[in-house]
Amino acid sequence: MIYIYLFVYSSIIFSFIHVAAKSIPRKKPFLFRFSECDTCHQQLGIIEIIPIFSYCWNRGYATCCGSRIQSIYLIYEVLCPIVICLFFSRLGWEEFVLAAVIFAWLTFFSLTDYYYLHIPNVTVYLFLFFACLFRWLTEFKIGPILNDFVWSILFFGTLYFFFKRGIGLGDIKLLIILGTALGFLESYSIFCFAVIMATVIIGILFLLKKVNRSTYFPFVPFIYFSFICYMTFQ
Ligand SMILES: [Zn+2]
Repeated sequence: MIYIYLFVYSSIIFSFIHVAAKSIPRKKPFLFRFSECDTCHQQLGIIEIIPIFSYCWNRGYATCCGSRIQSIYLIYEVLCPIVICLFFSRLGWEEFVLAAVIFAWLTFFSLTDYYYLHIPNVTVYLFLFFACLFRWLTEFKIGPILNDFVWSILFFGTLYFFFKRGIGLGDIKLLIILGTALGFLESYSIFCFAVIMATVIIGILFLLKKVNRSTYFPFVPFIYFSFICYMTFQ
């Protein structure tokens, strides 16, 4: 029963995060108003904002103008609640809360990176604050948090210094926050797996001639999936 509640509530929260990720980089208000259609910008009705259900009910088409709704909406609306349930089944209560908070923030950043190749700065500081707060709540010690923060800054900062062309500053900031929240070694594992995944996927796309050397790739979605795998199979 608890999994049904978790699934339903998280699908609502994550669909809200999706709207926030589309609105904040464009400085559009998103609180206390209905979402609008991506194509004709008409306000959506109550039936059309119910996660998963509305997509399936309208078979992936908008009722306002008949345009195709991007399947990324359905993917996130189904994937995120499943991940939350997975975390809940595999992690202890305190670890679960911390993982869920980080997961929610990474969902936001993976979407802003996917849509706009952009990671809004203000939200990065908020993420740092929440990451520190929730880690502190799991152990009530400041020392280890500061220790991991310094190690993460040293490592990922040096990495950025040498590989500026390969990785964005936004990605580095998120990796430093991950290191602070989960521990430096954990963030290092997540980073390595993300790099392997990105190399394989971009390599395949390159061989299939779907991309070329100048294509710019969002890296946060790779960090995001790497984080999910790490927390699930650690
Ligand atoms: Zn429309």
